[in-house]
Amino acid sequence: MRLVIASRNKKKAEELSRILGNDFEVVTLSDIEAVIPEVEEDTNTFVGNAIKKAVWVAHWVGDLVLADDSGLEVMALGGRPGVYSARFAGPEKDDFKNNQKLLEMLEGVRDRSARFVCAVGIADSNGLIGVCRGEVWGTISREMRGSNGFGYDPLFVPRGHKKTFAELPSHQKDQISHRKIALERARYLLKIYVSNLPL
Ligand code: IMP
Repeated sequence: MRLVIASRNKKKAEELSRILGNDFEVVTLSDIEAVIPEVEEDTNTFVGNAIKKAVWVAHWVGDLVLADDSGLEVMALGGRPGVYSARFAGPEKDDFKNNQKLLEMLEGVRDRSARFVCAVGIADSNGLIGVCRGEVWGTISREMRGSNGFGYDPLFVPRGHKKTFAELPSHQKDQISHRKIALERARYLLKIYVSNLPL
């Protein structure tokens, strides 16, 4: 069965399809023809944005859709950058600048605890099927390290590890990431959905 991932972020789509495995024929918005008006991710929660995006895209493509919204919450910054993670340092969504800004804001700060959060919404043309959430805790390192992954990976050291997400091989990040946890839950939801489709 076809599952449309509501993202044009290639790295993120790769991660999602790697974790979903072979259960679905996974395609991204860049692979399909449908013209979909941009949807504003303007709610103040990851869950709200994931629901909004999944329902909107499913309405336009008429297929089963999975949308994720994710980001980093830093405790010493009161949860920032949060839903603004991608555009933390400006609208151009530059990962390197975002990381630099975060390091600057945390200069001299001792509490460097943070978590990545991922919300996954699933919808079809009839509307929302469900939403799942996952999180992974860690700390923000004092400098960027590693070249794997994307976003804040060079700064995030998951709890129980010494290396940043960008230093760990992708299969190791996939085992513990916020996206993995949310997707495991979403897979369960998808299983129920598929087994209840009319014959
Ligand atoms: P979204 O595409 O609106 O969900 O934005 C997510 C943003 O949060 C990304 O651009 C990254 O800055 C950050 N982010 C989310 N998940 C991860 C991750 O697994 N690693 C690093 N950064 C992430």
